[in-house]
Order: sequence, then structure tokens, then C-alpha cells
Amino acid sequence: MTPSETSLRLHQFQGLEPGPRFIVLGAVHGNETSGSQGIARVAAELDAGALELVRGTLTLLPVTNPRAYRLRQRQGDRNLNRNLRPDATPLDYEDRIARVLCPVLAAHDVLLDLHSFQSVGQAFAMIGPPDNDGSLQPFARAAEEQALVLRLGVRRIVEGWLDVYARGVQERLARTPVADRAGLLSTDPEYGVGTTEYMRRRGGYAVTLECGQHEDPAAPETAYQAIRAALAHLGMVEQAPPAPCAEPEFLRLVEVVDRLHAQDRFERPWASYDPLHTGQRVATRHDGTPVLSPLDGYIVFPNERAQPGNEWFYLARSSPRRLTA
Ligand SMILES: [Zn+2]
Repeated sequence: MTPSETSLRLHQFQGLEPGPRFIVLGAVHGNETSGSQGIARVAAELDAGALELVRGTLTLLPVTNPRAYRLRQRQGDRNLNRNLRPDATPLDYEDRIARVLCPVLAAHDVLLDLHSFQSVGQAFAMIGPPDNDGSLQPFARAAEEQALVLRLGVRRIVEGWLDVYARGVQERLARTPVADRAGLLSTDPEYGVGTTEYMRRRGGYAVTLECGQHEDPAAPETAYQAIRAALAHLGMVEQAPPAPCAEPEFLRLVEVVDRLHAQDRFERPWASYDPLHTGQRVATRHDGTPVLSPLDGYIVFPNERAQPGNEWFYLARSSPRRLTA
């Protein structure tokens, strides 16, 4: 598949009975193609009549960033999954996608966004906040989001992204003189708004599914099974809904630690979800100061190539929130 860069190819199936409006995205990051493969398989089953949509609207977007997909890289001009908003005067390629994508997302109730990741590890899902009426990310559909994520076939579930991201932005700004702020990639809490955050802002709910390592042959199957499970759970196909995951591992991101200097270095090559205990040495600053874990938990999204002034790794611990199905 070599999609055109100048258009987005949406497949839409309308059940003849009313039901949820469900959209599935693949390749928001162009080198993450397991979702595209899972989507293609579901589309082929629908075309062949092997799978019948009965209720609601299913929209499949197998390649959300066609330029990045053609280039086999994460992004075209910038990360589509940050600062996502419809802009009347787009400045770059991803802005032009967002101008089309945002109204499409807003016309749906539920989003499943399919990704994959760089390092070896098991598939996991990310969800939004509990119900709240705060200013950063007010939300009222946590119960529906939880019920969905528990049926997607993964055990590890992570929350807390936008909170921690916004707090990291505040700390980054507080320690950086105004004249130096241009060197920071991310000085605006809005920068943390991707597909799922945009969906929640527009009244929907959304799950990010990280299907496995980019090249893991099991990742397309994970993506496919998740779409099928979601369709059954949402009552859009005539199939028994899947049982919820009995023993989810539910983690909350609690802190982001920035790299401050080019000679700041990790204690060892970390992988996401490596366990940490309180006081354990995670890294060393360029002047020899140790960076110690403040908690019993896990390191998440370590990036040994982080630019100084920007996010280096996240810390997570068991979430105190109860996940009910
Ligand atoms: Zn991704």
C-alpha cells in the first residue's frame, strides 16, 4: 500500500440500525503499521461479508499520516499526535492533516488509536482521567472508557498522561530563562493534546492501544483482535461481548524527569516498565549528581537521546483508581 500524501482514505460502514459512532486510526505515526494491518483485515472481512456490521457507524482510517507512512518514519514535518487542533491557516503537513482529521474525530463517539513502540515489551493501553470538572481535561465518560479498555485484550493499562505532561511543562518553564525557551520542544500544555485528548474534549472517549514493538509479528494480530473485541463490546456486530480483563495491571504516570545537559546519562539502558525502588539510582547528571527514584514503581518511555531541556523519562506507580468493568 502506497497511499497518496494529498488525501486521507477513510472506509466507512453504516449499520442499518442505530448505534455508536466508532472510529479506528492506524499509522498516526508513520512507522507504526500494525494498526494499519489490523484495520485492513477488518475492512476485508466486512467487504467479504465474513463480518457484518449491524449497528452504528464504523470508520476506519488505516493510514492517518500518509507522508510519514511513505517515508516509514514517525512524522512528516512534526508529531501529529501533539498539539492536535484544526487550524484555519496550517503551517506544516501535520496541520493540514489535523484540519481534516479533527472534524472527522468530532463526528464520532469512540476512538481506538492503534500505535506500536520502539523497545521490546508487551502491548499496553492508555486511557484518560477519571470523571472530573477541572480545567485541564474535564471528562464525564470514564466508565465507558474503562469498560472498553478492559476488553481490548491487553493487561497493562496506563493513565495520567496529560496531567504529568502539563506539570512537566510548568516546571520546564519555571527553570528556563525566557531567552532560552525557544530551545524547548514543549512549553505549552496544549502540546500534550493528541488524538485521544482531542476526542475527549469534543465529548467522546478514546483509548490508545500500543500493540507491541514496531516489528513484532504479533502486533498486527493484537490490533485486529482489539478492533473485533471493541465491535462486539459496543454491540455493533452480533457477537457475544468479550469478558473484561480479570487482573489488569493499572499504572499511573506520576512524574516526568527532564534531561538538563548533554552529558546527563542513564545508569543503564532502561526499557519501559523496568521496575524501580525508592532511592534506586536511575541516572547521573553531568556534574555527578545522582538521579534517584522517588518511588517504588516503574520507569516509562525512557529516551536516551532526549534533547537537554526536554522530557527524559517518566515515572509510574500502581494507580489508586479502581478500574471497574
Ligand atoms: Zn505512536
